[in-house]
Amino acid sequence: MGKPLVALLTGAGISTDSGIPDYRGPNGLWRRDPGAEKLVTYDAYMADPEVRRRSWLMRAEIGALDARPNAAHLAVAELERGGTPVRVLTQNVDGLHQLAGLPDRKVIELHGTAREVTCTRCHARSAMAEALSRVAGGEPDPACRVCGGVLKAATVMFGERLDPEVLGRAMAVAKGCEVFVAVGTTLQVQPAAALAGIAVEHGARLIIVNAEETPYDPLAEEVVREPIGTALPALLRRIAADAPRA
Ligand code: ZN
Repeated sequence: MGKPLVALLTGAGISTDSGIPDYRGPNGLWRRDPGAEKLVTYDAYMADPEVRRRSWLMRAEIGALDARPNAAHLAVAELERGGTPVRVLTQNVDGLHQLAGLPDRKVIELHGTAREVTCTRCHARSAMAEALSRVAGGEPDPACRVCGGVLKAATVMFGERLDPEVLGRAMAVAKGCEVFVAVGTTLQVQPAAALAGIAVEHGARLIIVNAEETPYDPLAEEVVREPIGTALPALLRRIAADAPRA
């Protein structure tokens, strides 16, 4: 028998040390500013070229492509490199788990990725960096190079459904893992809350690393309130050492 599968569900809190604020959570930037929320709401984005122009400019200004993985992302990649089977289910769209060295196939991006764009008509994908350089070069609302359709970030916007295939893979991981670590997520929005619940129902040990209380704290074997950048590396070293090898 190999080592038990460790699932990590990561939310905005794991990326704040990388300079990426919480955009999407219940108290995130998008929710606090209705004008900004429109820029990432599917219907408004599709209906109005002006919304799209502002959306591309906002992405250029945020500079999210320049963000670097922090100690917490690196610790997750280190756990995997050390031989522990790891899957990451992330609510984040920043791609920092992969930049830290975790293989693509071990990361399930529940809300897609802001490192790519997708065509809303032909679904061709290309790099966000390329789209932003077209914006900088004078195309305020760059169209798909294949079919001329409207391009958008390859993220799940408000008003869009999660990809059922992605969600299915995430649920399978939640069912099959033996340790489920929720990091930097309030566990108040779906599907994050449901995934934690499924993991517990299927017998996983739940560990929560989050600054604030979550509705799942009473079900957790351990709740860690210390800063993620130091607490998570320490926790993952302990998990790697504890895991039975026989
Ligand atoms: Zn297209």
